[in-house]
Amino acid sequence: MVVQKVVLIPGDGIGPEVTSLTVKLFEAADVPIEWVTVELGEPAIKKYDDPFPEDALKTIKKYPVIFKGPLTTPVGGGYRSLNVRLRKELCTYAVVRPAKSLPVDWLYTDVPRYKNVDLVIVREATEGLYSGVEHFVKVEGEEVIAAETINVITRRASERVIKFAFEYARKNNRKKITAVHKANIMKTTGGLWLEIFYEIAKKYPDIEAEDRIVDNMAMQLVLKPQEYDVLVTTNLMGDILSDLASGLIGGLGVAPSSNIGDKYAIFEPVHGSAPKYTGQWKVNPTAQMLTGTLMLRYMGLNEKAELIEKAIFKTLNEKKKLTYDMCRTLRYAGIADLEPVSNKEYTEEIIKNLKELM
Ligand code: NAD
Repeated sequence: MVVQKVVLIPGDGIGPEVTSLTVKLFEAADVPIEWVTVELGEPAIKKYDDPFPEDALKTIKKYPVIFKGPLTTPVGGGYRSLNVRLRKELCTYAVVRPAKSLPVDWLYTDVPRYKNVDLVIVREATEGLYSGVEHFVKVEGEEVIAAETINVITRRASERVIKFAFEYARKNNRKKITAVHKANIMKTTGGLWLEIFYEIAKKYPDIEAEDRIVDNMAMQLVLKPQEYDVLVTTNLMGDILSDLASGLIGGLGVAPSSNIGDKYAIFEPVHGSAPKYTGQWKVNPTAQMLTGTLMLRYMGLNEKAELIEKAIFKTLNEKKKLTYDMCRTLRYAGIADLEPVSNKEYTEEIIKNLKELM
């Protein structure tokens, strides 16, 4: 098999843990990847006093596929999101987040309506309320009297991501796209987004097109997620709804994601760096691992992806060694009171199952 080079950004917080465990699993599965490690975030600050060194970007841009752990963004102040910056630099304009129930029955015992969820959220990733165009408004002296963040919706970026969603639907045999917006209140930005959505929808008569106001959408997703197929939405709304959708399928510990552009693709889980758990080796690495299998499929390594997924699902179904979040679900569902194991032990168990399947 041809060995392909992939950029590995371990990230910070829990990132280095979940990425290193995924790399270990991939090695056990003989995945033909050579990793090119690039540090951003906390490790880069420690070494270079810069969370996003120019040289790091140069290296990243040499390779089309990037496998990334989460990166912390300081809240309220500090440097701007490295994740948003990376997506912009590489123009990976479509965040594609499949929210599909896992073939693990006990995960949905407590809430059976989440059992057959199979939806994909396509989120615009370069503008909207994450445009970075924001400022404080001050009066004489230095008193801050207001703060403004500009919601940028351009025709070009909206067309690009909406077309992507329709093409994605066609390629993946999906039947319906729902545009999510708040055009009743944000009449200009939401209105333009919706207008473009229906213009493009006309070119795809084979796919049903509809729209929902975001607050209603949140309620519908919790109540009857099976009625939805592909959602396409703007940056902030997509960010929020995809965490919600992660909750439907078992939590952030199992939710994969990807950022796709014309030249580059970044694969990272939905979850963030969960700083409070750093160094404890307890968080669930499944989301990072399933993100890895999305990447393997993107690279044409479907058999490896399938093998790894089988080993993960076998481990979850066996309910012998699970991380704390999964044990909590088992307890809440009244199924078992299992003592959680570390994510290292959980990964060892997956590798043991993988070897049996190979
Ligand atoms: P988070 O996703 O890091 O964590 C929220 C909660 O989800 C955690 O407290 C934990 O209970 C649970 N969780 C997350 N990952 C888990 C896992 N693998 N296993 C089990 N449980 C898990 O979100 P947050 O606390 O809002 O953000 C923390 C930091 O991460 C912030 O700096 C934020 O900006 C950043 N962030 C980065 C990315 C990214 O790198 N793409 C995405 C989201 C948030």
